[in-house]
Amino acid sequence: MSNSRLVDMTMLSPNHSGRRNQPITKIAIHHTAGAISAATIGNIFRPTSRQASCNYGIGNDNNIVLCVDEANRSWCTSSSWCDNRAITIEVSNSSNGGNWPVSDMVLAKLIDLVTDICRRNGIKNCTYTGGKDGVLQKHEWYAATNCPGPYLGSKFSYIASEVNKRLVGGSSNAPSAGGSSLYRVRKSWSDAKSQKGAFRNFENAKKCANSNSGYKVYDANGNEVYPRKSTSSKSIDTLAREVIAGDWGNGSDRVNRLRAAGYDYDAVQNRVNEILSGKSSKPSGKSIDTLAREVIRGDWGNGQDRKNRLERAGYDYNAVQRRVNELL
Ligand SMILES: [Zn+2]
Repeated sequence: MSNSRLVDMTMLSPNHSGRRNQPITKIAIHHTAGAISAATIGNIFRPTSRQASCNYGIGNDNNIVLCVDEANRSWCTSSSWCDNRAITIEVSNSSNGGNWPVSDMVLAKLIDLVTDICRRNGIKNCTYTGGKDGVLQKHEWYAATNCPGPYLGSKFSYIASEVNKRLVGGSSNAPSAGGSSLYRVRKSWSDAKSQKGAFRNFENAKKCANSNSGYKVYDANGNEVYPRKSTSSKSIDTLAREVIAGDWGNGSDRVNRLRAAGYDYDAVQNRVNEILSGKSSKPSGKSIDTLAREVIRGDWGNGQDRKNRLERAGYDYNAVQRRVNELL
């Protein structure tokens, strides 16, 4: 038994039962009911007084923390039956309350992690049946909890289907290719004249799209399969702000990393340029630290007014407020 090589950090929790007494056949996906980093998830499960843990946590910083070795039974799902069979994953929300959303980046990371768990543990079909007989498990089936929350809960079928595409495709990013069907690189599916090429190999189609700005890869049914479409309109903006914050490196490294993560580099870079040129109505990506100091100076008002103004400006109020509390 092994652990995922996708982990960014290891912060082992003492809260587990030792070796699991069942083979790994399930994956329980939880939400943290809070927007927190991977390191914070790790820290939460460190005290023995907590009496809880997870195998993996995915923070809102898009890092994965290993808290309990896969070989061991974590204390996560309020069920010995489930936790002995399941790899448990705590997933950070992107903001607090509402439908308890999770960012597109974190959702994509979760799909990568679930795919990796399935591959290494011989789970050939990642099923979501809406019941305990499937592979994907919900905490709310075992205890009086809202976990995994409305947003993440609504994504279980999508997660299963994306994982299965990867399991069938054999590549971390490739949608399934139906036999001899071709991947076509065009500006749009309806614009057949714009076609740059048709490829049996998805990777070759991606390369072609990458070297032709504005082009996309379509499968035989005309579905756009690359760049991956974002599941929320906010995501390009979020990515652009991450780029500005330095999270995605520079130059061709940035291009490669964004594309490897399945994002539309051109769209993100356009948004970055927009923000930096001041065309955007929103202030350019200030760091959480800068914002916290502005808040302390009084630039952002108080109470609900502060929250409204920060959020309207596209910032993460909770992250800023946490930093304010740290500084004070
Ligand atoms: Zn839970």
